[in-house]
Order: sequence, then structure tokens, then C-alpha cells
Amino acid sequence: MNLLREATALLLPDACPGCGRARSAPLCPSCFLALCGPVRRVAPAAGGVRVHAAADYDGPVRELLIAHKERRALALARPLGGALALAVRAGPGGAADAGPCLLVPVPSARAAVRARGHDPVRRMAVAAAAALRARGRPVAVAAALHHARRVADQSELGAAERRRNVDGAFAVRGARGARVLPPGAPVVLVDDLVTTGATLREAARAVAAGGGKVLAAAVVAAVPERSGAGGPSGSGAVGYHADGQPPSPEREIHRIGV
Ligand SMILES: [Zn+2]
Repeated sequence: MNLLREATALLLPDACPGCGRARSAPLCPSCFLALCGPVRRVAPAAGGVRVHAAADYDGPVRELLIAHKERRALALARPLGGALALAVRAGPGGAADAGPCLLVPVPSARAAVRARGHDPVRRMAVAAAAALRARGRPVAVAAALHHARRVADQSELGAAERRRNVDGAFAVRGARGARVLPPGAPVVLVDDLVTTGATLREAARAVAAGGGKVLAAAVVAAVPERSGAGGPSGSGAVGYHADGQPPSPEREIHRIGV
């Protein structure tokens, strides 16, 4: 499937990276709408930090994230960042009238950034911050976290292994020099994807250890729950908008700010 997608992208440069259909913008209207929510709260929370996702990691959203991350489809940073902004706005401290906060991207390993030629999460965070500022929210990106040690690729690991793999893996930059995070700085962690929450949990731990105050976490997409949403254990994955209004494409396009 990915091979087909890559072949399509090579042979038909005007094909939407999400679905392969013709497009005139970075992505087609249908794939754009797939990024427009409704935002859902992801369960379980990552170490007590609420996580909101703008979409499920499935179908075109998955393809868009991969095209941006692995194939340098950099024009997608803006719509993906817009989706991230929706997820930020849904979390605690994320309302339009809330005070300033820092978006702290989950760090990519240096080798991965070198291999890809860019840092996709950081790039999306910058786009999200621009979308939030355009709507009056004083937000900045602080790339405050880095890898304190190497970690294995999470994609091959189960939930418990993921947790062990990233346990203690991140640290706030500048611990021995200039501080990147002012003490008590309000932080929203941002990432492209959440699966088990292990990485966000570790990021929250590291930010708290570095003196920041983690308000929430926001991701573009969450891996769909297999057990079925709305089960008795309470997935928390009830689709909703931050302001409780029903979705409509026109409204979402306005909200997402692209
Ligand atoms: Zn499309």
C-alpha cells in the first residue's frame, strides 16, 4: 500500500498525499476535513496528563503524517499543525481566552532527524503555534526536550516494553547551563501520534523534572482503540469540540486557520 502511495506520489506529483486523488492544494478537501476533528480525549491519560487528538491514526490521516514525516511533504506542515492546534485548544489551558503557554515537541532522535532531513514534530508545532497566535492565543514553541539516551524504535514494541524503552529517556535541555524552561512555565506537550501514551508520559515526567508545569498533551492523531470506544472502563474517547458546538466543514476550516 505504501509502495503504491509512493509510486503515485512520484508519477503523479499533483496527487493528494492522503488519498492519491487529484488536488490543487497540499491536500484534497476530503483529506483536509479528516484533520478537522472532532477532537477526542485519548485514554489512558499519559501519566495523569490529558491527551487530545484531532483525528484517528488511520486512512488518509496516517498517509498524510507519513508523507510529511518520511517523504518531506513539507507543505503538509500547515494543515497538520492546524489539526494539532485544534487538539491544543481542546485541552486544559487551551481555550482561546487562556493565558500564554509553551508548546514543547516530543523530541526526535538526532539520527532520525538527520535521516529525514527535518524534524516533523517540531515543524508541526511551529505551524500549530502560528495558528493559535492567529486566533489570539499567546503561544510559542520551546524545543526544550532532548534524548538523554538512545531508545529503540517503539513501533515493534508492546505496551510494557514501550514504557521500559522510554523510561528516563528524555531530559530538559540546558540542565547544566542556561535553562530553556522558566520555572513553572505552562507547557502543552505536542506530538504527531499517540499509541500507548508511554512517550508522552516520559515527556511529561522530564518537563516536570525540568521545572515546567505540564497542562496537557496534544497530538494530531491517536491510534484507534481496538476494544471499542465507549466501553464501561471509560475510554474518554467521546468525540466533541472544545466549545461544545457541532462540527461543520466550513466552521472547521475557519477554526483550523488554514
Ligand atoms: Zn486526499
